[in-house]
Amino acid sequence: MSEKPAAAAARSKVIADVVLDRPGKQFGYLRVPHSHDESAWGAVAIPIVVVANGSGPTLLLVGGTHGDEYEGQITLLDLARTLEPNDVQGRVIILTAHHFPACLAGTRTSPIDGRDINRAFPGDPSGSFAQVLAHYVANYLVPIADAVMDIHSGGRSLDCLPCTMSHILDDAALTERTLALARAFGAPYHVMSREVDGSGTFQTTCESRGLVAMSSELGGGNRIQLPGLEIAERGVRNLLAYLGICGVRDERPTKATQVMLLPDMDCYHFAPASGIYRPFHPLGTWVKAGDPAGTIYDISDPARAPTVVHFKRSGLLWSTRGQGRIATGDSCSVVVVAKN
Ligand SMILES: [Zn+2]
Repeated sequence: MSEKPAAAAARSKVIADVVLDRPGKQFGYLRVPHSHDESAWGAVAIPIVVVANGSGPTLLLVGGTHGDEYEGQITLLDLARTLEPNDVQGRVIILTAHHFPACLAGTRTSPIDGRDINRAFPGDPSGSFAQVLAHYVANYLVPIADAVMDIHSGGRSLDCLPCTMSHILDDAALTERTLALARAFGAPYHVMSREVDGSGTFQTTCESRGLVAMSSELGGGNRIQLPGLEIAERGVRNLLAYLGICGVRDERPTKATQVMLLPDMDCYHFAPASGIYRPFHPLGTWVKAGDPAGTIYDISDPARAPTVVHFKRSGLLWSTRGQGRIATGDSCSVVVVAKN
């Protein structure tokens, strides 16, 4: 624990059994205290892998921030097994299943405290399970990273056109560094967004500290989607090469990453009724404001015509509902627009 940065906001209850500045390869755990009926002095063990050699930048790679998103977990499990210190100049810190209890359960939120860890940042060392874990990541891992990639995939409730993501920032230099990272990763799209509520996200914590960081949405619907998995595997290797940590960039022919914006709430379309959402267009369709986006069927009233949802904006259909049922207020579609 001697490697903990002095700048840590408060002492963490998390016990790490890896030494973050030790050369070589370490498989270990972040032990987050969790006292419950079956284990008075129990802890939840969050897997962490550190591969370090020589001097160079530190890349923090994270999968499983949401437990119903699988492409990042698989990609980083494969990387953790196969990456060797002799391959590396610098350091790679890997959380293969960041919110481990949610990953075990295949859920977005924690079965322990009900929280979405991606709304629990920058965390609280005296808070609930997810808050304590978020605090450790924010105060002990983020400060020693030169770049962060948090791999998301839409989860159960969304289906997304594969992309990397960051927020629309006032900091022009950080924006350019982030876009360079996105182009190196090489997803078909990079979406710069204003979120419905981005205040407690891992991404926001990194960005607020001036750290170049990205997340992604590589599919969704609570399943593995092979195009997103391929993008994640290739993208992580490309990041390692771009940062000079290991390997060479995969230059196989792909389209250059197209930068898109999600600038305001008009891009989001929320369900005005509950029922089954029937989208009218596949993801990746260029749509026009006023066009029907889809309909919501009320299965309790066969005589009633479905409720039609219309696009408020012209743009690229980037996200739609990830499962059949939808409730009033859920996101049924999101449109993004091209950056000039
Ligand atoms: Zn997610």
